[in-house]
Amino acid sequence: MKAVRIHAPGGPEVLKYEDVPEPQPKAGEAVVKVDAAGLNYIDVYYRSGQYKAELPMTLGLEAGGTVTAVGPNVTEVRVGDKVAYTGVAGAYAQYAAVPAQRLVVLPAGVSTRQGAAAMLQGMTAHYLACSTYPLKRGDTCLVHAAAGGVGLLLCQIAKMRGARVIGTVSTEAKAKLAREAGADEVILYTTQDFEAEVKRLTSGRGVQVVYDSVGKTTFEKGLSCLAPRGLMALYGQSSGPIGTFDPQVLNQKGSLFLTRPSLVHHVATREELLQRAGEVLGWIRDGKLRLRTEFEFPLKDAAEAHRALEGRKTTGKVLLIP
Ligand code: NDP
Repeated sequence: MKAVRIHAPGGPEVLKYEDVPEPQPKAGEAVVKVDAAGLNYIDVYYRSGQYKAELPMTLGLEAGGTVTAVGPNVTEVRVGDKVAYTGVAGAYAQYAAVPAQRLVVLPAGVSTRQGAAAMLQGMTAHYLACSTYPLKRGDTCLVHAAAGGVGLLLCQIAKMRGARVIGTVSTEAKAKLAREAGADEVILYTTQDFEAEVKRLTSGRGVQVVYDSVGKTTFEKGLSCLAPRGLMALYGQSSGPIGTFDPQVLNQKGSLFLTRPSLVHHVATREELLQRAGEVLGWIRDGKLRLRTEFEFPLKDAAEAHRALEGRKTTGKVLLIP
């Protein structure tokens, strides 16, 4: 079968489309024929070497597809089930062997492509808005990169929970998408001072929570956007890591809270995985949560897809089709 692997870290050119043996299921595993693999920013961190892994590595932490084989002791899925998963490396491939514990059977009305588009970014937006800082009516949140994969979903879930949403984006076209996803206000952080804008839009009060996936270029100013005792949820670093940080700043800026959360710790048990995925996939089935999947690339063009994501050319979800 074909897969996209890296043999050494580097730029998009290190992604190699090559022949590898088809996986066989071990005990507790199922083999999934991948209909679509999700591209996520974390794939860039692994490819570039910011995150370490054993090499060669088949990239990709998310896919949707059909179960074609199960190993011994698998009770969670059966051959023929339409499933999606995240958190297991190896999705940039025609087939993937996945611990059955990590598989979610898709509800009727949700396609495998939608599943591939929803699992990682959807459950991330879910835990940020529902667990890290459970938004409620009366809250205002700041969502950076609001037209991105996580961003568009986070705007929608924040609105469902009754919060006021201020989004940041780099272009007018992205601003339109963020507004369509429910953002009440959108700031072009590439041309406007987002700290001054947030203060103006909140009459100087600041926001209860900043959801920051951009990191280096937004983190410090984001802290200044928070109301006293507000929460900075730094969940990514698309522009680079923030460097060292002095906690005394949290005191100076108003007894702030800082967290650096990860999806892994929010779907650690099967029970929590099924609960979170069930809610996200249910919203998609019911039309309450809209996925934007305009960007699809053949798997063999994974390098082009990485260039587009890193070049800020994409919006919503990017899928790779084997
Ligand atoms: P996005 O679709 O959001 O793509 C990244 C976006 O970041 C770009 O489109 C761009 O939007 C913005 N950006 C700002 N500065 C830069 C820069 N210098 N280079 C590239 N992009 C920049 O990606 P994802 O939705 O896949 O992921 C978003 C972030 O969330 C990533 O940092 C990822 O690691 C993180 N993440 C964290 C998780 C967790 O649990 N901790 C789980 C999932 C994702 P614009 O042009 O509008 O500025």
